[in-house]
Amino acid sequence: MHELSLCESIVSLVTDCAAREGVTRVTRVTIDIGAASAVDPDALLFCFPLVTEGTPAASAVLCINHIALKAHCIACGTDYAPATLISPCPACGGHDRSLLAGRDMRVVSFEGE
Ligand SMILES: [Zn+2]
Repeated sequence: MHELSLCESIVSLVTDCAAREGVTRVTRVTIDIGAASAVDPDALLFCFPLVTEGTPAASAVLCINHIALKAHCIACGTDYAPATLISPCPACGGHDRSLLAGRDMRVVSFEGE
């Protein structure tokens, strides 16, 4: 399952950082999930306790920020929020754009003690 391996990467990243910073118990992990990142937040929440079991993050809460798509039209310069990855620019109808946000999943921060 895609989300399970993703979860494992998140937890290993966080527990590595925690160990370096002398944190023995991680209490909260915050991640961004972009609307177009193809990550299922529910599946991630389901996997998280399974993956953290037996690690310093065992009792951590997973907080997910949902990041909406944001694009910049290269033809007319409009910044807009496309409904999907293939939505055209609302101002000029162009498809030539760069994505500013919403494509990635990343670990934002973690808290611990
Ligand atoms: Zn445009």
